[in-house]
Amino acid sequence: MNVDYIIVGFGLAGLAFAETLEKHDKSFVVFEDNSQNASIVAGGMYNPVILKRFTPVWDAIDQLRIALPFYKGLEKKLDVKLDYPIDIYRIFSSIEEQNNWFNACDKPFFAKYMIPEVRKNSNEAINAPFGFGKITNTGKIDTKVLLDKYKDYLANKGAIHFEQFDYSLAALDNQTVFYKDYVAKCIVFCEGFGVKRNPYFKDIPLREAKGELLTIHAPELRIDFLLKSSVFIMPLGNDHYKVGATFNWTDKTLLPTEDGKNELLTKLKRIITTDFEVVEHVAGIRPTVKDRRPILGKHPQYEQLAILNGLGTRGVLLAPKMATKLFDHLDNNADLDKEIDIARFD
Ligand SMILES: Cc1cc2nc3c(=O)[nH]c(=O)nc-3n(C[C@H](O)[C@H](O)[C@H](O)COP(=O)(O)OP(=O)(O)OC[C@H]3O[C@@H](n4cnc5c(N)ncnc54)[C@H](O)[C@@H]3O)c2cc1C
Repeated sequence: MNVDYIIVGFGLAGLAFAETLEKHDKSFVVFEDNSQNASIVAGGMYNPVILKRFTPVWDAIDQLRIALPFYKGLEKKLDVKLDYPIDIYRIFSSIEEQNNWFNACDKPFFAKYMIPEVRKNSNEAINAPFGFGKITNTGKIDTKVLLDKYKDYLANKGAIHFEQFDYSLAALDNQTVFYKDYVAKCIVFCEGFGVKRNPYFKDIPLREAKGELLTIHAPELRIDFLLKSSVFIMPLGNDHYKVGATFNWTDKTLLPTEDGKNELLTKLKRIITTDFEVVEHVAGIRPTVKDRRPILGKHPQYEQLAILNGLGTRGVLLAPKMATKLFDHLDNNADLDKEIDIARFD
């Protein structure tokens, strides 16, 4: 069967590329083996402010400009709710942090997002003697629902295979790729940390960071905003909250660990004073890059092989814009910006 593209991996990167192909009436088939799950467990937050230092996220405004209509379009196409606007309350740990907050609020970039005041805490279940800074026009995408629904959509069209892509079976000639029953113009690899098994791209300089998350049931907490301190506490409805996330640079397994859980619980108990019960514990590996920029482009030797990876800690914001950039590069020969081009590592 002839297709324009084969996509390997269906996390946020693979999904964004598939949707971009659909918009351009290109044919494709996806291979997905459930070996990674960053996109499934992700908090799904989009927020243009780095909450540690109150600085702008790289390229965030343009990424938001593309991402929000992208997810709105998918809500319509898949007939499902995905985008949940939610404010963020950043707990201040000192007077100095309050001052830093006001300094940042003075910058035009933040005008739409950071409210220039210190909010007092009136919730006895929260420990915040220095109050909060509120960030608005932020939200979360329900990535699990999005991926599940889009997989169903592709399965109905016969455009996804739930199996491992076997790299040894891919054959290349000058302009074409052959894989099992398929002949394609290009394979786009979107495997997240799974790229380490890919003989063509395994040497890209990833600095993967495992993250663990808890879901808790805390009936007395009663917050309808995302609370951020050393961990975030995100309301899920029905008194359930997602709590995360850890950063582990050495453990590359997908399994949740006791250490990860204890770290989250220790931090959580410093923030909330109410009783809670842990109901779920998950882990995933963020495909982060040493220079903190995504990795896009063609294989230096094989033009028919391309990559979309390195979405790091911000896949929700990055994926739609990066998918568009890669498509324009592959299909229309547009140049890639140096800072995202895989060629920067040559
Ligand atoms: C704990 C945690 C919290 C996070 N919170 C946020 C957040 O709030 N906001 C945000 O924007 N980002 C967040 N992220 C980051 C976000 O999850 C990632 O940026 C994003 O999911 C990366 O997507 P991806 O598609 O590149 O990789 P992945 O999600 O890892 O997807 C890769 C896919 O490829 C498949 N695959 C791999 N190899 C093969 C093969 N050989 N054959 C077939 N299939 C294959 C895997 O099964 C997987 O489905 C978080 C991540 C973690 C771990």
